[in-house]
Parts: sequence; C-alpha cells; structure tokens
Amino acid sequence: MLDVLIQGAEVVTPQGVGHWSIGIKGEQIVSVGISEPAIQAHRVIDAKGKIVVPGGIEPHAHLASLIGMQPNERLFTLGPEDDTYGMAFGGVTTHLDFVFVHPGTDIATALSRRLERWKDRSYVDYSFHIALGGALPARVFDQIPDAIQQGFPSFKVFTNEVLPPHPGRRPFKLDFGRIGRTMEQAARHGGIVTVHAEDDDIVQFNYERFKEQGLVDGTNLHLVHSKLSEKLAFTRTIQLAAATGAAVYFVHTSAREGVESVVEARGHNLPIYAETLHHYACFNAEDYRKPRGFCYHTYPSLKYPEDNQALWEGLIRDGLSTTATDEYPTSLEIKLKGRNIDDVTGGNLGAEARMGIVYTEGVVKRGMSLQRFAEVTSTNAARILGLYPRKGVIAPGSDADLCVIDPSFKKKLTREDFHVSDYSPWEGWEATGWPVMTLLRGKVIVANGKMLGQLGDGKLIPRKIDPLILRRPAC
Ligand SMILES: [Zn+2]
Repeated sequence: MLDVLIQGAEVVTPQGVGHWSIGIKGEQIVSVGISEPAIQAHRVIDAKGKIVVPGGIEPHAHLASLIGMQPNERLFTLGPEDDTYGMAFGGVTTHLDFVFVHPGTDIATALSRRLERWKDRSYVDYSFHIALGGALPARVFDQIPDAIQQGFPSFKVFTNEVLPPHPGRRPFKLDFGRIGRTMEQAARHGGIVTVHAEDDDIVQFNYERFKEQGLVDGTNLHLVHSKLSEKLAFTRTIQLAAATGAAVYFVHTSAREGVESVVEARGHNLPIYAETLHHYACFNAEDYRKPRGFCYHTYPSLKYPEDNQALWEGLIRDGLSTTATDEYPTSLEIKLKGRNIDDVTGGNLGAEARMGIVYTEGVVKRGMSLQRFAEVTSTNAARILGLYPRKGVIAPGSDADLCVIDPSFKKKLTREDFHVSDYSPWEGWEATGWPVMTLLRGKVIVANGKMLGQLGDGKLIPRKIDPLILRRPAC
C-alpha cells in the first residue's frame, strides 16, 4: 500500500517526459511508471494537466545575514523562518545558505552557530556552503577535509572585495594564494570551490575613478562591476583551478564573457560549472533607471541585452548549469535604501519566483525542454553540490521532493502572488505556468494556495559529491 500516488501528470525524469504515475512510501519515491488500476494508496492526487518536476534546489541564499552595504547600521536579511515559507510556495524543497568564516573564527565554530540558527526554523531542507574570507590563518584550510567529511563539500570564495573596504565591513576577498590553497584541499578531499569572480584591481580602481568624476549614482553599477572584470576573474580562476586540479562552480554569472570563459574551459574537459540568476537573465542595466530599478540589482551587476541573450543561450544549450537567486530578502525600504555605487543593497528577492520565471521565460518563450528545465532548476545543482541522487531527480529511491506546475496559469503577477517581505521585483511580470503544489519528502507542504507544512519540516541534508563531477564537466 502506497502512502501517496500522483496520477495523470506529465512527469519529468532523466529518461524522458511521460504521463506516468509516481508512487510514494514514507519520504521516498518507490515507483515511476504507467498507472495500474490495482495499485492502492492512502491518498491519490489527481494531477491531470499538470507537470511534475523535481523539487527546486536554490543553490545560493543569504538568509539571516548581516547587510554589509549599510556598514553603520546592523541590519539583517530575513531569516529561514520567513524566506523558506516563500520557497515552499515556489516549488523549492532544498536551499543552500552560507557559513561565513572570517579571521577570528574557524569553520567548526561558525558552522555550529549557523546550524543552531536553522534548527527547526526552515520549511524546506537545507545545507550550507562554507565561505572563506579575509586573511585566514593556515589552520582554517586544514579544517577543510573535516568539513567535507561532515557533509559540507562546497567552499565559497570571493576574488574581490565586492564594495570599497570600510571599518564596518567584514572582509570578503580571499587572495589568490589562499584560493589556491582552498582548491588544493578541495581537489584532494572531494570538494568543490564556488567562486564569486570579479577582478579586484579593476573594481576598486573603478570605485576611485567614478568617485573622482562624480559618477556615484547607482545607475553606473554595471560600469564599476564591469564585463571586463568578469572576464579577467573568470579566466584567472580557471587557470588556477586547472593548475590545482580543482572543480569550480561560478556563482551568479552575469556577462557573455563569463559564459564564454566557462564554455571554453569545458571544451578543455575541465570540471568548470556556472550558475546564473533569473534576475540577471531577465533585466539589464537600463532597468536601474526605473523608480524601483535597484530591486533587480545584486553584485556584481546587471549588464546589457546581449548578456541576457548569452545567459539564456548558456542555460538552454551549455555553459550555464544552474539557476539561482542570490536570495537576500529584505523589506522594500531596505532594498531601496542605498542609491550610490557603493551602497545599493545587493542580493535579490526571488527564490519563490525562480521556478515560475524560468518556466515562463525558458520553456514557454525560448523552447527550453522540460528535461533541461528540471536540470537547471534542480538536477544539476544536486549533482554539482552533492545532493544527487537523494535530491534533484524523480526516481525510485530518491526523496519525494516534487514541484507540481500548472502550465495553464497565465497572469500578470501581483504582490498577492508572493509570500515573503512587502514587495516582489516580479510584480507586473507576465507569467505563464507557475508552481501550485509542493511535496517535501512525501509530505504535501503547499497545495491550493495554502501552507500545509510547518517550521521544522526542513532538515539538514548531508552532501557528498560524485567524483565524476569533480573530474570533468559532467552536467
Ligand atoms: Zn551571494
């Protein structure tokens, strides 16, 4: 006897897309196949006309995070208790946040604090990247193998200080020596290095130059955090990765140059992967001029229409493996607080919108296949970051994390379509197709516009990356 049987939907699996039924027992999928009338289940969900994909994986979120753009205040982004509520509505069943390790602390201490913060405070499953920033001592890098052993195999580094240094800001940048050391450790012990890649010299010089010239308005952000900066940092990082044997995952690729660097590296069979953001794919620097234009900004920056096009091509063909949000949920007031190149609030609000926007813009408007949609919203993040095959795939033995999309949904999005904060950057956007039901490990957590899950449903998921992912470009 099954616990749940989902019937009638188009089901997206790595083997193909078909009208199959999904059998669930406890927390796992036990069968995917043709419907047999004899099969019994405690609950049958009729999903005729709907599409079922693996629950979304949000690989890049900064919840309960100190807002560094306003260094004289102690402001924080919304925590998991607020933001994962929206994720559940948006079909997201797992998210990855960050444990920041700065000089003065170490991986174990910072990790335990973050784990405590998330305990019983998330509606969906979670894990953390370990972010290393500043002049960290050698012993921190010696802790990398332990972190990998404990199920945290991804290490985030920044190649630059994102903003000009300020006594109230913690250091983000890791020098290339320490990045190399991180890569050596990751390569040796089964980890991956996730990289925020911008050229520090170029960006900091641009900050000085633009201030001197009085061009401090935030509408210049794309000229400070420039396309050239992305190109230089991506290629330099790839060279370092090749020299150390490490696999790299570039976060928030924003420019055509970034995509091209990744495609070239993959052509040399290097294990290089990249994500982009739905905001980066859908908006460009012209949008900064709109009254609420900074709602679409995160660092590095929005670029140009040609970059939007390159990002979509990368997502549909190759070069970009995942979509993420760089989730940084705040009120509209905080999001629009800074107006200058060095204080516009970064990060996006949009983890809830990601699945629906990528479906609309990718599948409906640009001919992305349903299988590719599942890959760039879930499967590839699961594979690259070590959640696969427990997460990211509809298959027997995998967690029953499912997102049910209604392709007949067609409307201009309004504030009422969202469940986090007091605004959404996606208000006014025309959507075709939207998540309408979410299952987390077999439990229906969202249905009929209602939250049925509870805080604490989300659990920490230990991760381990398949060695194949770390050896060559495998997805
Ligand atoms: Zn980020």
